[in-house]
Amino acid sequence: MSTPCRIDHDIHVHTFLSSCSKDPDAVPEKMLEAAAVNGLRTVGFADHLWDAGVPGASDWYRPQDMQHIARIRAQLPADTRGVRVLLGCETEYIGNGTVGISPTAAAQLDFVLVPHSHFHMEGFVRPATVQQPDEIAALMQQRFAEAIELEVTTGIAHPFLPCTQREHTDEIIQAIPDSAFSDLFGRAAERGVSIEITAGAFPSLGSGETGGWHDSTFMRMYRLAAAAGCVFHCASDTHNLQGMGRTRRLQPFVDELGLTQEQFHPLVRQTG
Ligand SMILES: [Zn+2]
Ligand SMILES: [Zn+2]
Repeated sequence: MSTPCRIDHDIHVHTFLSSCSKDPDAVPEKMLEAAAVNGLRTVGFADHLWDAGVPGASDWYRPQDMQHIARIRAQLPADTRGVRVLLGCETEYIGNGTVGISPTAAAQLDFVLVPHSHFHMEGFVRPATVQQPDEIAALMQQRFAEAIELEVTTGIAHPFLPCTQREHTDEIIQAIPDSAFSDLFGRAAERGVSIEITAGAFPSLGSGETGGWHDSTFMRMYRLAAAAGCVFHCASDTHNLQGMGRTRRLQPFVDELGLTQEQFHPLVRQTG
């Protein structure tokens, strides 16, 4: 029998090792302590990564290689406060099959999150010519279709969250028909690629709903992913200590979706 799912994990956590983290307190020891206080039992560190073995890094990614993110191993406290620790990464996908991690490097990690919509990186992830909501929607669909086929992909980071033009988010997502979402999520489900339920998809958990971005937009998408048979994981995508535990705030959304433990990726599924 299926059982309701209580969110007790967060596998998209950045530390001080991510260049965009400005928080010197975002160190594993403090983050795991905060995770335990917030009732989390599994934490996955997922710092930004572009493996030096893969040509084509941007200047921003280049210093954030395997050697760099491996520094986290020396930072792990002996006492993890009962929290199971996974060491992964958030790499990058820039199209044409180019992903910022090799299968060999991926094998050294517990999981690999692949983003397909870091469209704020103009000229690297998003061609400068792609500007309009319908063009952004089309490129996200294409990149998603490609990212789920990659050998290295455990899960998709913040699926379909266009990291640009926030005021047009509803319009961009609404440009993707149900049938297209169902097809793409069906393919992800077949491959066992995990779909991230990310706090950033719900404006009410951040700076609030606006005229152009509502929680219901991504609830529609997640419903279609669930109906297509996808597995999921929850993510805060925090870049600071304060954000540790934010995945617990996804509980009402997960409840409304009616997700059970069996619908979560085996990596984060509760074991007892
Ligand atoms: Zn990201
Ligand atoms: Zn991230």
